[in-house]
Amino acid sequence: MLKIIEESKRIKNIRYFRSWKNKEDQTSGYCFPCDINGKIDPLEYEEGRKNLIFCQTSNDVIDEGILIDQWTYFQPAQAECKCGKIITLDGDSMGECECECGRFYNVFGQLLAGKIRPFNGQNDDGEYYYEEDAY
Ligand SMILES: [Zn+2]
Repeated sequence: MLKIIEESKRIKNIRYFRSWKNKEDQTSGYCFPCDINGKIDPLEYEEGRKNLIFCQTSNDVIDEGILIDQWTYFQPAQAECKCGKIITLDGDSMGECECECGRFYNVFGQLLAGKIRPFNGQNDDGEYYYEEDAY
């Protein structure tokens, strides 16, 4: 078992936008990043500042107020390999985590004997087999 440096966890993110949509074509509009109170973040580009003024002064747009965009993602654990390197226990398609030293671990940090050998096929009885065992 590896030494876990940082446990896996769910990370929650929230972003806020001030939004206006076009009256004529309501599938389009304008969004500006802002804080929770709707205070718009400084805009880097002149075109963006012009668009903001347009939204704040025009009757051609509908003010949608503050929109909330939130999402979560899984952050895999960090662990210290027996060789001392820090690896991420995120696993590939077979759930293996490889260290540069050649060791393989599963996503729980348990040392594996080696890389998992994928099955190549399934016989008539539903049993999986490796290609070299097929004949
Ligand atoms: Zn290692």
